[in-house]
Amino acid sequence: MNPLRSLILAAAGNDALRRAVAATPGTRGIVERFVAGETVADAVTAAARLIDDGLYVTLDHLGEDTWNVAQAEYTVRTYTDLLDRLTSEGLSARSEVSVKLSALGQLLDEKLALDNARRICEAAQRAGTTVTLDMEDHRTTDSTLRVLAELRRTWPWVGAVLQSYLRRTEADAAALADGDSRVRLCKGAYAEPEEFAFRSAHEVDLSYVRCANRLLAGDGYPMFATHDPRLISVLGERTRWYGRKQGGYEFQMLFGVRPAEQRRLAAEGETVRVYVPFGEHWYGYLVRRLAERPANLAFFLRALASRS
Ligand SMILES: Cc1cc2nc3c(=O)[nH]c(=O)nc-3n(C[C@H](O)[C@H](O)[C@H](O)COP(=O)(O)OP(=O)(O)OC[C@H]3O[C@@H](n4cnc5c(N)ncnc54)[C@H](O)[C@@H]3O)c2cc1C
Repeated sequence: MNPLRSLILAAAGNDALRRAVAATPGTRGIVERFVAGETVADAVTAAARLIDDGLYVTLDHLGEDTWNVAQAEYTVRTYTDLLDRLTSEGLSARSEVSVKLSALGQLLDEKLALDNARRICEAAQRAGTTVTLDMEDHRTTDSTLRVLAELRRTWPWVGAVLQSYLRRTEADAAALADGDSRVRLCKGAYAEPEEFAFRSAHEVDLSYVRCANRLLAGDGYPMFATHDPRLISVLGERTRWYGRKQGGYEFQMLFGVRPAEQRRLAAEGETVRVYVPFGEHWYGYLVRRLAERPANLAFFLRALASRS
């Protein structure tokens, strides 16, 4: 991995830096570019705008690594409230939710996270929509796939996420390419050791295409999460080669990243879903986005300077 990217990602877990960044002048503008706001109402407003533009959304309540049962409970209630609001605003047909199991208590107890995820799935079913389980760092992959399998026994539409930077992912993609399976394929956003993850961008891209082929060869519903222009063009060719019609797969991109490309693909008839994060705990998410664009490093250097 690019050493600069590793350095920025290490900052995601640094509490002193988090406080410094929050206090840095200009932070608000950068946060607002990538995060829809702090409240459920802000998230619903952002979803409505995107849907008006012909896009679909998946909403993510920011917050991860909860070691606290009460915090996990608050996360569940936020999601159920959000799903109720999407229904009452008539937005649920084009919106779903993305959930991090670590925000539901996975680090405390997998069973607690499973039970909490079940409550969100019940609310999604009432709303007539779906849930996708975000994938976090490699130490949680097996646990997340176990919870996914358990949830799919009741709700086969629960979506998985696979990360092409992990060496194991091609096998996971083959295993998840069946039936009703909804699988989001992304490159992966965490700092991972070489033992588990490909190091070079080229290897990660090649793995992405191999995993996409596995998903397209099956009869599930692939969700291609990338902003990479080269991969988007390869995926266009691969979907045609596998005889997939538009609507038999989708593209996904992040709120605030390549918005013109999101609209261009939608105008060409593609299903494009925007991942819309909201909530007070935006720091870890923002750092991962900045790590993808080291051009934004100046922002971090200002924050560091303001500590001294
Ligand atoms: C919908 C969605 C859901 C995701 N869910 C997960 C998940 O559950 N787990 C996980 O580990 N990761 C997740 N990710 C993040 C993903 O793993 C990557 O870290 C992220 O998408 C960047 O990879 P990329 O494929 O866009 O390619 P990159 O190689 O990072 O970027 C390719 C090009 O896209 C543009 N671009 C990319 N990022 C930015 C940016 N921040 N600002 C401006 N331009 C940019 C640039 O032109 C860049 O050259 C998700 C991503 C998306 C889009």
